[in-house]
This record gives sequence, C-alpha cells and structure tokens, in this order.
Amino acid sequence: MAIKNIITEPNKILRQVSKPVEQVGKEEQNLMDDMLDTMYSAKGIGLAAIQIGVPKRIIVLDISDKEKKENKPMYFVNPVVKNKNSDLSTYEEGCLSVPNQFAEIDRPSNCEVEYLDYNGEKKLLKAEGLLSTCIQHEMDHLEGILFIDYLSKLKKSMIIKKLSKQKNKVDRIVV
Ligand code: ZN
Repeated sequence: MAIKNIITEPNKILRQVSKPVEQVGKEEQNLMDDMLDTMYSAKGIGLAAIQIGVPKRIIVLDISDKEKKENKPMYFVNPVVKNKNSDLSTYEEGCLSVPNQFAEIDRPSNCEVEYLDYNGEKKLLKAEGLLSTCIQHEMDHLEGILFIDYLSKLKKSMIIKKLSKQKNKVDRIVV
C-alpha cells in the first residue's frame, strides 16, 4: 500500500473520462488499497482513481464517524446509477482535487447504484443522505466532472484562478 500524489485542478487529467474495468484482479485491488491510503492520509471521505492519475472507473469512500476511529471503507468498481429520486439535498462540498474550496451543491437525495465490490462481486446499494451525495460526487470524477462545474461561470473561474496562483507560487527561502 502506498500514498499517492493527488492531482489538483487545473489539470487536464481530471477532465478525462475513465474507462470501465474488465475484471477486478490483484492490480485493481492494489490500486484500491493505494487509493484508500491516499484518501485517509489527505483526510478525505472519497476518492476516484483518476484523482491519482489512473483513468479506471473505481471509487473508494469512507463516510464513517471519524471519532469512532473504526474505518469502514467502501469500494465501487464500474458504478452505475440505476435510480435516483427527484428530491434534492444540499451539502457544502469540497474535493481533494480542488483544495480549500467549498460550495453548496444540490444533488438527488437518494440513489441506487450497481457496482462490483473489492472482490469483483456484483452489488446493488441504496444510498441516501451523505452517502448518496458522496457517491454522485465521486462518480462525476469518472466523467471528468468536478463540483465547481455546477457553479456559475464567474464563481468557477475565480476558484480556478485562485488554484492556479497557488500552484505557481515559488517557494520563498530566507538564507
Ligand atoms: Zn472530488
């Protein structure tokens, strides 16, 4: 297991559409282990493979109560939304690939997702609340979509400008 570098916006890689996984094998399991390590170390609750530069349709989540100190990882390979309701719920979202930026986003409050688990078994999950929002946020990554894409053009460009500036900052040294 290893902690990987998380790609941040602006970066074209994040805009790539990820490819379906043909079979869940050792390579995919290693990738999921690395993704989880990376996510925990960055203190996130979800991560898509593309965020560490791998264009595969894989996401990991852990929305368990952090105070309980018990990890409850969830793995989704080739997730497909089968159903979602028209009621929306709103969360203030952030993203490990859009550091230190947050915005309120509306998403369907319930969704049903079909996917393969860590062992390649087909599963169906009914998600609501935070889980529903997280799954949809991560699944957007598989399509090259970021939460800032739902904001007004002006807000989005302000955020991207800020992030570009942070990236280009030269290290200051005092000698
Ligand atoms: Zn994200």
